[in-house]
Amino acid sequence: MAMCPLCNSLKVLEIYCPACNSRLDDSGKVSDFLDPYGHYNDEETVKMGDGYPNTAKDQICPHLMVCNKCGYDVVKFIQER
Ligand SMILES: [Zn+2]
Ligand SMILES: [Zn+2]
Repeated sequence: MAMCPLCNSLKVLEIYCPACNSRLDDSGKVSDFLDPYGHYNDEETVKMGDGYPNTAKDQICPHLMVCNKCGYDVVKFIQER
């Protein structure tokens, strides 16, 4: 089964804030935020409910990257392997 290298701490995404150049923090999977009942679902169900219809099919994991300094945030799609 495919898994996200970021969720499994195999890889760290280094992205810098376009506004203030700070390192963005990985706040984790987007679905963890959007679905408060996510832990009751299996992985595929969570993905279908995260608002990104391609994530289950394409095996990508949306991560919310946040700048702690200025509040900038961006969603990055991580390819699972
Ligand atoms: Zn992930
Ligand atoms: Zn910033």
